[in-house]
Amino acid sequence: MPAGLILLVEDDEELRALIRRGLEEEGFAVCGVRTGAEAMQRARDEAPDAFVIDIGLPDADGRDLCQALRAQGVTAPVLFLTARDALSDRLAGFGAGGDDYITKPFALSELKARLRAVLKRVGSDGVLLGAGLALDPATLEVSCAEHSVSLTPTEFRLLGVLAAQPEKVVSRRDLVRAAWPEGAVVHDNTIDVYLARMRRKLRSIPGAPAIKTLHGVGYLLQAVSPP
Ligand code: CA
Repeated sequence: MPAGLILLVEDDEELRALIRRGLEEEGFAVCGVRTGAEAMQRARDEAPDAFVIDIGLPDADGRDLCQALRAQGVTAPVLFLTARDALSDRLAGFGAGGDDYITKPFALSELKARLRAVLKRVGSDGVLLGAGLALDPATLEVSCAEHSVSLTPTEFRLLGVLAAQPEKVVSRRDLVRAAWPEGAVVHDNTIDVYLARMRRKLRSIPGAPAIKTLHGVGYLLQAVSPP
């Protein structure tokens, strides 16, 4: 029984072969393709458990491929490979629905560890787990134990960023980058309105973590200590 099927989208043949060997040694089954178009096709045919996607593909930007997969209802975790070290690229990767990124060149052991981590965060039914919350991208519902509440798509993306790194501070700027389209002008009071609404929704779920404000720094999702 393999540890899972990984769809590897990487146009560099040598790197693709290297990653494939490494992941197969780890017990994964690997399907390797070169282009975004092939990836879309194989994603439909094989329903992989996770994706490893190079951002620089010959026919597409890996982030656009990720968004296209998400738009088709694919919820499997996505780990981006990026040759660029720019922070904006990494964040745009999260905004595109990716779960993590790794910058080239990387050690195979690190790729394996990241892949295991994203697979662990995602339940078998494609539900993202973070900070004790389950986020279902198909229904846009967030739940904790047996209680759940519906979110709007923007609220879902905002909470997704916070839940992906619980107890870590996320700046306003990073929230905007992840939740709104590139170049969108988002006023501070708009974010405040969203956060107030999300706080209200989270408070309606017993035991759910709370969004804490660190003035002038950002926000973090913090577990509520038991009474
Ligand atoms: Ca490439």
